[in-house]
Amino acid sequence: MASRNTVLMRLVASAYSVAQKAGMIVRRVIAEGDLGIVEKTCATDLQTKADRLVQMSICSSLARKFPKLTIIGEELVVWVDPLDGTKEYTEGLLDNVTVLIGIAYEGKAIAGIINQPYYNYEAGPDAVLGRTIWGVLGLGAFGFQLKEVPTGKHIITTTRSHSNKLVTDCVTAMNPDVVLRVGGAGNKIIQLIEGKASAYVFASPGCKKWDTCAPEVILHAVGGKLTDIHGNVLQYHKDVKHLNSAGVLATLRNYDYYASRVPESVKNALVP
Ligand code: AMP
Ligand code: MG
Ligand code: MG
Repeated sequence: MASRNTVLMRLVASAYSVAQKAGMIVRRVIAEGDLGIVEKTCATDLQTKADRLVQMSICSSLARKFPKLTIIGEELVVWVDPLDGTKEYTEGLLDNVTVLIGIAYEGKAIAGIINQPYYNYEAGPDAVLGRTIWGVLGLGAFGFQLKEVPTGKHIITTTRSHSNKLVTDCVTAMNPDVVLRVGGAGNKIIQLIEGKASAYVFASPGCKKWDTCAPEVILHAVGGKLTDIHGNVLQYHKDVKHLNSAGVLATLRNYDYYASRVPESVKNALVP
């Protein structure tokens, strides 16, 4: 029987190529022009043809290559967000969009793959679009250049399409120099590791386990930290509730500063 580590590395390698293929599908749906938008729960909770095609593509590929995954499914769980930042995808903010594949072992997020289909879009019509960032805890994270925000600057990144009073109260309490409002959990973690933002602050329910699994691994692999707004580590067992009901707080550095500034009123309003 293959060891757990062998299965994990095969799974990471497959997820890498599957995520690249997913990125091509995301670009193809835009190029073909029919997004097939469906409202899930409300006008800011959308699904497109790209979400559906990528979901099918990732799940069928992994199921074909790992037919026995369910046997070890008790311990090894794969969390897939076929398209993160769907709202922004429908509004043409294409660089906000990512495909997320996260792998958890015994409830802990240990490997993550992020494809960003429109990376490099500013480079002009001849540029090669897209990149894949991947990481494994204890091994490292690859496919990008780690950068830090200038010391002492508090650049907060948060939601652009799912804001409310709790979200803005919490951001204000961070004493920000700059507030960035962008789509996607994957996109915001990329901002943290590339020196564009110092903290991802989202004091509201709405984000799901498939939004945070892959991004948190990439962040943790380079020494950052992602928790809920109370500072609790997130769990990724197969039976865990999908909703991150107590929000998200993530930083590359100085986690304690941001955690210490979350208002009690915000904590009281968000039950884990
Ligand atoms: P955002 O920062 O708004 O792009 O959210 C990050 C991820 O969490 C996206 O996949 C969103 O779809 C999801 N999300 C956050 N808030 C909500 C909400 N209120 N309703 C539905 N999805 C949400
Ligand atoms: Mg998402
Ligand atoms: Mg999604």
